[in-house]
Amino acid sequence: MEEIIIHDKVFIPYITFEEIEHAIKRMANTIYEQHKDEVPVFIGVLNGVVMFMSDFLKQYPGQCEISFLKMASYEGTASTGEVKLHMDIPMDLTGRHVIILEDIVDTGNTLEALHKILSKKNAKSIKIATLLYKPEAYKKDLTIDLVALTIPDKFVVGYGLDYDGLGRNLPDIYQIKQ
Ligand code: 5GP
Repeated sequence: MEEIIIHDKVFIPYITFEEIEHAIKRMANTIYEQHKDEVPVFIGVLNGVVMFMSDFLKQYPGQCEISFLKMASYEGTASTGEVKLHMDIPMDLTGRHVIILEDIVDTGNTLEALHKILSKKNAKSIKIATLLYKPEAYKKDLTIDLVALTIPDKFVVGYGLDYDGLGRNLPDIYQIKQ
């Protein structure tokens, strides 16, 4: 893996696809152990979750349903703090065990807004699972139930995550070079 340039920034190789795959497999098995006797609903937050959700679902050994919604808060490499719902879930969650799948939790603004929306939908339980978590940037009190990989407070791209629209299709994760 080599350095890459996206727009005006240089990114260095950070987490390989193999490492990501292992972390996702561990997470899928942990969630399955907790929900063996149920059919959970995995809710993906678009667009960043696309790669993670696809690989996660292939590793999940039980029955499940899936749904998506779309939120956005980032402009360039900085969180705007204002989170907007772009697309709601077209599904009845009453009495269901819901697991939110996030690509990355940074400040937690998106997660908090999302949790507020989902908590009005009468689900039996709501859990949060994220591929990447930046504990140094997290400012909220909501418990994150499952974390695949913990990373420092530095901007990353690849594996679904973009920098101004580009980089989502990279199979590995890259970190901004400072
Ligand atoms: P938060 O609301 O937790 O600050 O940020 C959550 C959203 O911001 C994520 O869903 C993601 O879209 C974006 N985000 C946060 N950190 C990063 C990062 O390091 N790289 C990229 N590409 N997006 C990020």
